[in-house]
Parts: sequence; structure tokens; C-alpha cells
Amino acid sequence: MGSLNTFPLSYKVQGQRIVIIGGGDEALNKVRLVTKTTAQVVIISRVIEADFSGFEVQVVARGFEPSDLDSAALVFVAEESADADLAKYEARRRNIPLNVVDVPAECDFYTPSIVERAPLTIAISSEGNAPVLARLVRARIEAMLSPGFGKIARLAGGLRHRVEHLIHDGASRRRYYEALVTSPKVETATEASPVAGRYEAEILLEQHLGHGAGEGVVWLIGAGPGSEDLLTLRAQRLLQEADVIVHDQLVPSVVVDMGRRDAERIDVGKAKGHHSFSQAQINTLIVRLAKEGKRVARLKSGDPMVFGRAGEEISALRQAGISYCIVPGVSAALAAAADTATPVTLRGVSSGFIMATAHGADDTDLRHWVALAQSGMTLALYMGKSIASEVATRLVAHGASPELPVGIVVNAGRHNTTAYSGDLRSLIASHATFSEGPAIILIGEAIAAGDWANSAKFAAGRFKVA
Ligand code: SAH
Repeated sequence: MGSLNTFPLSYKVQGQRIVIIGGGDEALNKVRLVTKTTAQVVIISRVIEADFSGFEVQVVARGFEPSDLDSAALVFVAEESADADLAKYEARRRNIPLNVVDVPAECDFYTPSIVERAPLTIAISSEGNAPVLARLVRARIEAMLSPGFGKIARLAGGLRHRVEHLIHDGASRRRYYEALVTSPKVETATEASPVAGRYEAEILLEQHLGHGAGEGVVWLIGAGPGSEDLLTLRAQRLLQEADVIVHDQLVPSVVVDMGRRDAERIDVGKAKGHHSFSQAQINTLIVRLAKEGKRVARLKSGDPMVFGRAGEEISALRQAGISYCIVPGVSAALAAAADTATPVTLRGVSSGFIMATAHGADDTDLRHWVALAQSGMTLALYMGKSIASEVATRLVAHGASPELPVGIVVNAGRHNTTAYSGDLRSLIASHATFSEGPAIILIGEAIAAGDWANSAKFAAGRFKVA
């Protein structure tokens, strides 16, 4: 047995009346909702207080009469009065669905929160008991769909018979519609006029017929530091569109799950110690998938262009003549700065911000360490957790002050983030161990301006200890 006490459906009101008993703000709220339909909206009350002038409604300033419900599809009661009681009685007698505002127990139906992109409607229902949540969800969905989406939905509707006639298998048809609703060209043209939109849609249709399965593409997508709400809207849209998601091990499953449910998922960076794909194998894989006509989301943690091996993948795609595009993401260093309220640039303190690898601490890549030690800017070091104290030793050896503040953020931008703070000297001395997860090491004078009150100290250093 299911768990819903109500069943969401779309109810025909065309050519009928929607009757609202009440003349105040609550009636006005319902008017806003129901005037999205083509039904004739009638307001009946002895007391008309709200301003209904902006809406196409008929305002009847008198008491309720039973004949008011002739050819009514729905009745809303938005006042408490003898008229309201009579209207409730009459609606029930005639079996017309009734909504009594703010009295769920008396309602036959509830009104959902609506995202409207006519002819497309998305209704969010909370069975009448969590309207605030429904409104929150609505705001998120509003952000996901461009304002012009309805026009494109209408365009798609108009093309339906033609598409069914020309494209026979369901998967190719879906592929065409997906290309249609995500094509920037179609969107711009549709904004200009329906005819222009139709023209672009026809060109797209021809392309799809010509190429059979359609051309493959690879999107290099930044997944951010690991929380699904730090994904960009564009990343989310493309994940919904992809046929295959090729992801690294650092991208948590909550983010990978944001993709279309039936998309194939390939983890190319199995956990340490297990087999993982070499970079050359990954390059070959994404090229092969795109050549098969698939739309490939190559999902990387943080930003794809920062320590993401994007350079190699892009050149492989270029060489194979495959189209690609890059979607930026929140890089781990910026998530670490946000978690700890650390301004990485700060007037008079730090004039810049360097994202660098911590690798080579035991090597002799001298110029790297000299440059970092003497920059005077804020450093964000990637891939340095297990060698943190060697990194500190190397920086001091090349001239950095042992008192330079250091902050380490593990699992930045995630719900289980943890932070550590101190200075270069205390980091060298501590041989600290850190909690499980990827980490960013922030170093520089500006770090002391952050909020590290909740961090563990590898030594007090110059931080204000709470
Ligand atoms: N492209 C990624 C970096 C990938 S390199 C980005 O822009 O963030 C992998 C390194 O990134 C890890 O060793 C670690 O230093 C850092 N990293 C990735 N995710 C992180 C996170 N959530 N918190 C802290 N560091 C992270």
C-alpha cells in the first residue's frame, strides 16, 4: 500500500467557473493561483477589501446564492461567515470539490505550489501540511528551468507528430527532444518568435536525422568540493542530459546521483590500492564513448581546470575532432576559504592567491619552493595532507617565516568538514595526523583573519584561541 492520502492530478476547468467566497487577502492569494487558468473566476462576498483590479475576475459584492455554483468546477471558501457556511453546504450537496482556506480537515483538495511554464506545469504538493517546504522546493525548480522553457515546450508539442513520423525509436526521439530543450540557439530563436524557433528546431531535426544517433560530445564538468548544492545549475542540467557519467573517485556518490537515473556510470578512479584507469585509458575511453554518439559527462571534483588533468583530456578530444565544453566548479581551495571565513586576498596583507601542488616536497624542484616561500601571497596547497610537515620544512628552508599562519581544511565544502590551525613552526614540530578525507593547506598572513575558532590547534601560533 502507498503512503499518499491525496493523488496529484491535472483537473480540467476550461469553460467552467471557479467560485471564490471571500473578498480579503486570502481570496486574493487564491485568485493569483487560479487566474493562471482559462476558467471564469468569480469572487463573491459582502465585504470586498482586497484589490482585484489587476486580475481578470468577476467581483460580485453581495451574499452567496446557491445558483452561484451552477457550472462551477471548483469552490474556494476564504472567509468565515454565514454565506461561507451556506456555500460549503451547497458545494458538498452538488459534489463540487471544495477548498476551505487554512482548514485542511474541511478540504476535498489542496492547491499545490506551482511552477508554470505553460503549457508545462509542475505542481508541488505537500498534502496540505508543509506549504513552506513546497514553496522552497518550488524556488529550486524555478531556478532550474529558464523562463522561456514554456515556449520551447509548446514548440516541442507542435513538432510531436512530425518527430513521431520521422524518428521511430524512442531513444532517438528522447535524444532529439533533449537536444531541443537544451539548445541555446533554439532558446534564443524561440524568444524572438515562434516561427524563428520552429526554424531552428527543424534544422536540429535535420541534423538528428542525418547523423543517426546524433553526434557525441564530452562535457568536462566541475562537481565542486563534494556537496550536491555546490554544483552549478549548468552542471546539474548537463548531468541530467548525459548518457554516460565518467567520474573520479573524489566525486562523492551524492553528486554522481544527480545524473539521470538511467545514465551509465563509470568510476575511473577506484579507491587507493584497487585498479584504477590510467590517464591514457581515460582519454581513450571518453573519445570512444563520444564516437559512439554518446553525450559524456566527464565529472571531476572541484574545478576541472585545477589539478584535474583536463589538459590531457582536452587535447585528446581535439585530436579526435570531438566537440567538448567545460563547466567550471568550486575548487577545493575556495571551499576551504569559505568554510573558515578566510579572505584569501586581503587589502594590505595579501595581494594574491596561489593554487599550487604540495608535491615535490621531498624532491628538488627548487624553483617551485623558492617561488612559494617568497611570494608573500596566500598559498593553497593541494594534495599535501600526508606530507604537511615536510611542506612546512621546505617553505621555511627557502625563506618563509616560521610564524606564518597555516590552516588545514579536510573535507572542505562538505557536511563533515574539519579544520586545523597553527603556524609553519608548529606544523613542522607536530607531525600531526588529520581526519579522513581530502585536504587543502592554506598558508599566509591572511589566514589569521579567518574564523578558525572551531579548528583543532597543532599549536596556538598566532591564532586567537577561543
Ligand atoms: N580539481 C580539484 C582538485 C583535484 S586534485 C579542485 O579544483 O578542487 C585533488 C586534491 O584536491 C586533493 O588531494 C585535495 O588536496 C584537494 N581536494 C579535493 N576535494 C577536496 C575537499 N572537498 N576538501 C579539501 N580538499 C579537497
